Amino acid sequence: MLVNKNTKENRNENKNFIEEIIDRHLLEGRFETVKTRFPPEPNGYLHIGHAKSICLNFGIAKKYNGTCNLRFDDTNPSKENKEYIDSIKEDVKWLGFQWDKECYASDYFEQLYEWAILLIKKGKAYVCDCPQELISKNRTKPTEPGIPCKHRDRSIDENLLLFNKMKTGEYSAGSRVLRAKIDMNSPNMHMRDPIMYRIMYENHPRTGDKWCIYPTYDWAHGQSDSIEKITHSLCTLEFEVHRPLYEWFIKELNIWAPQQIEFARLNLSYTIMSKRKLLQLVEGGYVSGWDDPRMPTISGLRRRGFTPESIKMFIEIVGIAKRENLIEYELLEHCLREDLNKRAPRRMAVINPLKLVITNYPENQVEWLEALNNPEDPMSDTRLVPFSKEIFIEHSDFMENPTKKYHRFYVGNEVRLRWAYFIKCTGFKKDDNGNIVEIYGEYDPASRGGNSPDGRKVKSTIHWVSVEHAIPIVVRLYEKLFTIPDPDNVEADKTFIDYLNPNSLITTTAYGEPALNNYLTPAHYQFERLGYFVTDPDSNTEHIVFNLITKLKDSFAKKI
Ligand code: ATP
Ligand code: MG
Repeated sequence: MLVNKNTKENRNENKNFIEEIIDRHLLEGRFETVKTRFPPEPNGYLHIGHAKSICLNFGIAKKYNGTCNLRFDDTNPSKENKEYIDSIKEDVKWLGFQWDKECYASDYFEQLYEWAILLIKKGKAYVCDCPQELISKNRTKPTEPGIPCKHRDRSIDENLLLFNKMKTGEYSAGSRVLRAKIDMNSPNMHMRDPIMYRIMYENHPRTGDKWCIYPTYDWAHGQSDSIEKITHSLCTLEFEVHRPLYEWFIKELNIWAPQQIEFARLNLSYTIMSKRKLLQLVEGGYVSGWDDPRMPTISGLRRRGFTPESIKMFIEIVGIAKRENLIEYELLEHCLREDLNKRAPRRMAVINPLKLVITNYPENQVEWLEALNNPEDPMSDTRLVPFSKEIFIEHSDFMENPTKKYHRFYVGNEVRLRWAYFIKCTGFKKDDNGNIVEIYGEYDPASRGGNSPDGRKVKSTIHWVSVEHAIPIVVRLYEKLFTIPDPDNVEADKTFIDYLNPNSLITTTAYGEPALNNYLTPAHYQFERLGYFVTDPDSNTEHIVFNLITKLKDSFAKKI
């Protein structure tokens, strides 16, 4: 796995290869302005891969003072719906982008139909009655000539008649197609008379039952770009082999010619990125929905607590390249930490509590101690944290028999309670099964605020919560959804479902300080020493639910 840094290889004077092409086009006068589009098919929720395309298309438009359209590629009504359209709009806005026009390929169905007739009249398209399997078979292999079928020689008049009948619903679904008449011997299989229209009796979210013929991606996409006067049609590498066809249609129709440019897809380790597979996770009940915090969807990442800033920083670091690779998930977490470290308020919460009784602290006394909300921020404000005789600490912050380099609580050792006091551990209690159930300590009143009274040092500072004031909170502790880095590539007899991590979600009750008693959604916090957390929309007045976004440890910081 590599991280594709923004090195010289990809960027020249901070420009990526696409910007270099655009600069050249502007200089040579091929285009006067820059117009891009983000063209999702509304057949699912957007994922982090789409964020790359969004940042690129909207980012380039902004950089060149141009515009970017949001275009729904709604040409396959069997898989598309309004819920997806709405979620896509919400996600693009949440990332911080505003489109110029909201467009739909379906708005161009009439125009596309007229252009298809134009191609038929030029002798460049024909109705073919072959079943799909025969069409594929007759295309043979790139190294062998294809086999033209008898329909290829139909007269223009017959084609016009048959195509009209396709449109008026006289044929059954899948029984005929309209094909472009290009070259059955082309080494590029996409040029071997590709399909332009298929018959489908599906109700379309926008055009209803008006049409029973629907354009294919290849026929709709370039022409939609052209209608919108897009200058640069940015798409992922798999469309490189479609480019000759894209250009053929535009040339035959003699219409506005955008430039298609391909870039590498984003692949992220431990995730799958295809909407079809993500839908399988949702429909199979493996996750709670498209916005399950473990999903790589934008809505899942949002609910998990990722911020638009962290996602954009991630996309920026990954950069734009011509070569595909697998980006480490840890890079995304690193970007989140970079963002939240600067602005997330700190709070204390204990996930696996062990009671500490401070034997020399007055019974019933409570002190409200001042704590900085963010020590990383010189302007940070403060909050008050209650301190009392009984405190929860993490179980792991005590050891009966300390290992080497263990500096937290063990009998005889002194530790700082964050913002509070130095405490010396004096003893512990076990239950009948030998489990440690309580520990004891003595505080030094002179160390109030956690400051050393006489220059003596403690090697550990730990977080804590006053038992009496602790508020129970629900924490959802997430791990990666998959157990292997590349669940898209598994052995032949397995699927990605076989590699779901059974421990990807552990829900537990934790104890938080009173300042956490606020379930505004979403509120991001750093729970000291534990990680970054965000309130979940499942929170209510009874339980506040927090999602773990990422732990604090950053194994990535040194690598970039
Ligand atoms: P999926 O297989 O997830 O459905 P798709 O490519 O079919 O992906 P579209 O809705 O057609 O999804 O994609 C909209 C735009 O987003 C396209 O321009 C596509 O190239 C781009 N895109 C999709 N996935 C990625 C990715 N992983 N990295 C970068 N861009 C992507
Ligand atoms: Mg697609």
